[in-house]
Amino acid sequence: MTPRTEPHPWLACSRCRGRRGFRSSGRIRVNANGRRIDAWLVYRCTQCDATWNRPIVERRDVARLDRAFLLSLQANDPDLVRALAFDVASLKRWTDRVQESDEVLVSRRVLGKGLGPTFRWLEIECRVPHPVALRVDRLLARELSMSRSALQRLAKAGTLRSVPAALDLRRPPRDGMRIVVPLFDADLAGLGDGAEVGALRRDEGERLGGRREPR
Ligand SMILES: [Zn+2]
Repeated sequence: MTPRTEPHPWLACSRCRGRRGFRSSGRIRVNANGRRIDAWLVYRCTQCDATWNRPIVERRDVARLDRAFLLSLQANDPDLVRALAFDVASLKRWTDRVQESDEVLVSRRVLGKGLGPTFRWLEIECRVPHPVALRVDRLLARELSMSRSALQRLAKAGTLRSVPAALDLRRPPRDGMRIVVPLFDADLAGLGDGAEVGALRRDEGERLGGRREPR
């Protein structure tokens, strides 16, 4: 599960004179002055394109900076840029409002099936490398074609649950969280690749693997 859009910090724009969302340009600016180094991630106002330089490193001694980190900064390493852009906690140093997108790209993969006599539970393992803003109930409703009220009923009855923590349907899923859904109540047609789910239901004893491409 990956957010489609990086979080937007809201800041006062000096050019278009208003509080605006800023988006990451994906560019890191580095300035070395003798032994001291500064680095910024460059953001742009979503209205007028004015820049905001988000400090990443401020007047640091080059010799004391981690070598790999320094090289990543200088190379504008896309993995580092992405990690910084999704670091909401750090963004909150500069603003009290960070807008997170609830548009999430979901890719699915069948990891295996249980050995029980009947296939009654769907266990969903969530991989969320970057925080998403999409609530669990909205995610499940969309991906399983179920109504949110039905999901709430199941959660209240304790048949829809998460491992290890108590399930809060209104919060976004966390990385590593597993959600267990009773299948009799789920609309199997909503599980995406109907043929694969059909096979899963028929071949009770057979272990299935296979990748589903992101939709
Ligand atoms: Zn602006």
